[in-house]
Amino acid sequence: MKWSLQIGRLFGIPIRVHVTFLLLLFFIAYVGSKQAGQTGAIFGTISILLIFVCVVLHEMGHSLVAIHYGIEVKDIVLLPIGGVSRMEDIPEEPKKEIAISIIGPLISLGLGVIFFFIARAMGQSTSFKEFSVFQGNLIATLFWINLMLGLFNLIPAFPMDGGRVLRGILAMGMDGLRATKIAVSVGQAFAILLFFFGIFFNWWLALIAIFIYLGAEGEERMVVLKSSLGKSSVGVAMITEVHTVSPDQTVGQVLESICHGFQQDFPVLENGELVGILTKEDIFSALHHHEKSALVRDVMKRDFVTTTEDAPLSDIFKKMTSRKLSVIPVMRGRKLEGLINLEQIGKYHMICQEGQ
Ligand code: ZN
Repeated sequence: MKWSLQIGRLFGIPIRVHVTFLLLLFFIAYVGSKQAGQTGAIFGTISILLIFVCVVLHEMGHSLVAIHYGIEVKDIVLLPIGGVSRMEDIPEEPKKEIAISIIGPLISLGLGVIFFFIARAMGQSTSFKEFSVFQGNLIATLFWINLMLGLFNLIPAFPMDGGRVLRGILAMGMDGLRATKIAVSVGQAFAILLFFFGIFFNWWLALIAIFIYLGAEGEERMVVLKSSLGKSSVGVAMITEVHTVSPDQTVGQVLESICHGFQQDFPVLENGELVGILTKEDIFSALHHHEKSALVRDVMKRDFVTTTEDAPLSDIFKKMTSRKLSVIPVMRGRKLEGLINLEQIGKYHMICQEGQ
């Protein structure tokens, strides 16, 4: 994720914080100092850092269960609104999806219980009046934060963990697409209720409701596309009339081809062998740093993913979206057969499949 800094690794998973999270720290320290002077600022900073640790534990739960099922976890990113475990792919088996999703809220609720008993053991009150990020009873604050984190994430609406649990449960008795559609409708109905409740009682809830509504919609679109690509293979959607370039051409020459044609990413062939890929981004960054006279061989990507005509289109779609690849060359042995990109997959989904 752009604008995020790695602060360490846990069980081999990089933990990153987004810059906006650091801004939140400054903001909390500032508000704390306004409310209770220097102690308010220090208290605010410490409580946010401890909440941050609790969020990491929640996300760590998702990530470790995912790794247990053989799913690659790229990293955990901390944003001001919470954490995200970025995974290569979400499993289609309902039991695995349920396990990965439910563990996070369970950890948060478990932490809540622990803080509750610590507060009791120390003879401190845990009433909601004690809840403050800026002053007072830190243990009670952590109890309430974890309780809310656990319950909020159990809301059965995408993109909350509870939405995935609901889909998993439904998918045990029906196909995945129908389960997703029902889970999305439940989530959106919930979002609409929350929105109206929010307008009257708390604007934050109304904002969160919009976020849930849009998240559910995005999830549905993704699953519908994936399932409609289901049985198709790369061969039916790839571009077969491919313009290739040579490593000795200049970036300026390739730029001409972009201006006068439809293609934006180019396979680089040397003596008939694929040696690299030159994407539109490579060309623009070359123009930014070098001259138009830079050679293709000096700016092309030598490390790239390839596929074959019979590979399932849905797998390639997942790979392209999760790794942010703009184009993948389609090979038969060592011979280049075509190119596949997201635009082409979208076009196939919209146009070519009609009438089938
Ligand atoms: Zn979660």
